[in-house]
Amino acid sequence: MNVQFENSLEFAKSLDRQDELAEYRSRFFFPVIKGKSQIYFTGNSLGLQPVATESYIEQELNDWKEFGVEGHFHAKNPWYSYHELLRDASAELVGAKPSEVVIMNSLTTNLHLLMVSFYRPTKQRYKIICEYGAFPSDNYALQSQAQFHGFDADDAIVIVKPKVGTHVIAHEDVLKAIEENKDSLALVMMGGVNYYNGQVFNMSEITEAAHNVGAIAGFDLAHATGNIKMSLHDWNVDFAVWCSYKYLNAGPGSVAGAFVHEKHLCNKDLPRFAGWWGNDPATRFQMADKFEPVAAADAWQLSNAPVLSMAALKASLDIFTTAGLEKLTIKSKLLTSYLEYVLKNVSDEIQIITPVERGCQLSVIIPRDGKRIHEYLTDNGVITDWREPDVLRLAPVPLYNSFEDVFKLGNVMKEAFAVTA
Ligand SMILES: *Cc1c(COP(=O)(O)O)cnc(C)c1O
Repeated sequence: MNVQFENSLEFAKSLDRQDELAEYRSRFFFPVIKGKSQIYFTGNSLGLQPVATESYIEQELNDWKEFGVEGHFHAKNPWYSYHELLRDASAELVGAKPSEVVIMNSLTTNLHLLMVSFYRPTKQRYKIICEYGAFPSDNYALQSQAQFHGFDADDAIVIVKPKVGTHVIAHEDVLKAIEENKDSLALVMMGGVNYYNGQVFNMSEITEAAHNVGAIAGFDLAHATGNIKMSLHDWNVDFAVWCSYKYLNAGPGSVAGAFVHEKHLCNKDLPRFAGWWGNDPATRFQMADKFEPVAAADAWQLSNAPVLSMAALKASLDIFTTAGLEKLTIKSKLLTSYLEYVLKNVSDEIQIITPVERGCQLSVIIPRDGKRIHEYLTDNGVITDWREPDVLRLAPVPLYNSFEDVFKLGNVMKEAFAVTA
């Protein structure tokens, strides 16, 4: 991958010609504003709509029309077990066994449900380690869980901060925090990839360190799933959650995912908030009074599954399965490196804060007129994400972004710096 990059349209196009995943771009709808197709760099916020999604949803609408309630068992994809259709592809994306993965609810809901089972604080062991700059919903979930168990959130939650003057959380500082809190630590709950700076955490070593002091390790994979390769099973991660509307392209607020390690699946003593869909499907419709959890991550399901939303997710997962995460990550590295190169050509003022441990997102600090530069990009057909006070987040997504997109972004940014100078 020692490509000598050039900042030219011809060079970008030549990389696109060599890209064996290039045709996947045509499987997605790009937003069109005022007749102009947009250059899209916010697949980390809301993934684009696959062209196939409509037909997947239509299939279920038609079966509903045709079968009514009988669709639970007689639809082409019977709704009773629809979530099982998403299992293998989802397990593949996070590096899990199929039984360890379930598609259900929303991300924050799943985080709460799994914390009910895996955050079991005692007077002695109640602390939670998380990363500085975690997504607000994660912070609220952790704080409210600590409070729910009668702890003071400020005392219970240990935040690992970046070293002074940097924007990156050093791996050794995470390990140090675990060691320093070894007698009081209940849970390490971090992002797999931080949403703000795009940093990928070493989930394997963090999990090992947590286990070594007798704590549980959980991860929020909102920005990791569909973005980086993971091996949750082999890493021994206890639990994880993710959403499906970012890199997984399943549409706004679509159904989320959860992982529970195999070693916990047969433990019937684990406390959980149960619902009938978590019951063993073989006996679910016997409507018994006593809950019989199925020995799979499915046991955490509460309700009848949202089939229309799952159909949208299936459309996208089928694309991931054909493209293959291995090839996607290879392209991702090249595309993101090209973005880095192009950004360095735009202006000396840009500071990339994403470390080398990264997926396909670069977060950049624009110290001057950042908001105006973001607006200029928007007004000129480039969709990016702005975070106060000074960070622009850019995600070149290997499924549908091209090297030409990256080159064009660089050009529009140059113009933006010129007009705001
Ligand atoms: C996007 C995101 C969320 C959003 O949570 P929802 O429950 O899906 O609204 C939560 N945490 C992280 C880290 C995210 O990136």
